[in-house]
Amino acid sequence: MIRRLDLRGQHLTSRDLRAVVPRADLDVEHALDTVRPICERVRTEGVPALVEFTEKFDGVTLDSVRVPAAALQKALDTLDPAVRAGLEESIRRARLVHTEQRRSDTTTQVVAGGTVTERWVPVDRVGLYVPGGRAVYPSSVVMNVVPAQEAGVRGIAVTSPAQKDNPAGFEGLPHPAILAACALLGVDEVYAIGGAQAVAMFAYGAKDADNTWICEPVDLVTGPGNIWVTAAKRLLRGVIGIDAEAGPTEIAVLADDSADADHVASDLISQAEHDPLAAAVLVTDSEELAAAVEVRVAARVAATRHTERVTTSLSGPQSAIVLVDDVDAGLAVVDAYAAEHLEIQTRNAPEVASRVRNAGAIFVGPYSPVSLGDYCAGSNHVLPTGGCACFSSGLSVQSFLRGIHVVTYDRAALEGVAGHVVALANAEDLPAHGEAVTARFE
Ligand code: NAD
Repeated sequence: MIRRLDLRGQHLTSRDLRAVVPRADLDVEHALDTVRPICERVRTEGVPALVEFTEKFDGVTLDSVRVPAAALQKALDTLDPAVRAGLEESIRRARLVHTEQRRSDTTTQVVAGGTVTERWVPVDRVGLYVPGGRAVYPSSVVMNVVPAQEAGVRGIAVTSPAQKDNPAGFEGLPHPAILAACALLGVDEVYAIGGAQAVAMFAYGAKDADNTWICEPVDLVTGPGNIWVTAAKRLLRGVIGIDAEAGPTEIAVLADDSADADHVASDLISQAEHDPLAAAVLVTDSEELAAAVEVRVAARVAATRHTERVTTSLSGPQSAIVLVDDVDAGLAVVDAYAAEHLEIQTRNAPEVASRVRNAGAIFVGPYSPVSLGDYCAGSNHVLPTGGCACFSSGLSVQSFLRGIHVVTYDRAALEGVAGHVVALANAEDLPAHGEAVTARFE
């Protein structure tokens, strides 16, 4: 089911490796053609376009684009106590980690009388996307909202697609577990919109037929989603800020012959379960482990709940068992791949993990599976995919902050550096820059 890619004896450079590592055929650029008219209609028509696209893509007729407050409380009141306890623990652990990410302002005394302060200021208003197509993700409410709250963001809006199979009493709304998670976190601005139209709603805002704002525009949109959500974020970047592109999920496992084949197989399947486009990659120097994982994958896939989705993901071009000469060669492959999630299941796993340069998050040793990180490790699960981990990070408090330099020089400090400013300004043929300094001493 899962193909093999044998790189043994090939000594490829990191650039060569980037070209051969398994990758989803995820044509975000092509998806832009689909999402461009959707975003344009939301921009020009507002709420009627949101209602129309929700009917078209989600099969739901909306009573209201915004979720009524009573529905949020009702979802929390009727939430399964075990799920509530799980969400509370997930929130508690995420808060522990994200509180540590808060930043204090720093002031550097550059010269006597001259300081630069870096002030960290939260974004005013954010739109958090919580996926809800094939699966619903109350965990993504936690992963988006906790860092935004810890950063001190005042305006937090959440959106998630309306569900057509909701239980009675929740018709035309996002999944009740998502509403309950919002209520637990104290978020009361929640919308029942998914896909590209949700990103456009946040970017442009949306008014109803009476020209009243139903959703006001935000400054930043974060959160994972499918290819249309990712394409809309790419398209509207600039109108809004975005976090990294967090598309269909990926797991890479770097393992040697000390790894347990059944654990590796179950971890690959756990991420393949998200999406037919999800990627599952095992990188190993052990032919025996590769063969044993193939056997365990076959046995587990036959028995898993989402057999069809998992089979499509594992048999797609984005998934593979990659055979390498040794763990060092494996490290080169996983660095070239830059997986969203990387597991290290080798001897001396912490040491091997310390040498990884590119990954969204790293899960070290036999008892740190990715699904722990999906829910309850305390780490964030909104992570860069598609190789974006080479240049971007997962969601964090930092994602919601801006650093503003505050420059304060007195007369003597400015006079002391005036000659240098004038020389540099003249070198750039911008003499008025220098004159703005010398004018103060004439
Ligand atoms: P989703 O909410 O991202 O997408 C559902 C929406 O897609 C629908 O509301 C609909 O509006 C839109 N849509 C569906 N078909 C369309 C079409 N033909 N044209 C235009 N729009 C269409 O939910 P999903 O589909 O379940 O995807 C969630 C994704 O998020 C998965 O791929 C999962 O792997 C990923 N994920 C990633 C991370 C991460 O951190 N990288 C975390 C969690 C989930």
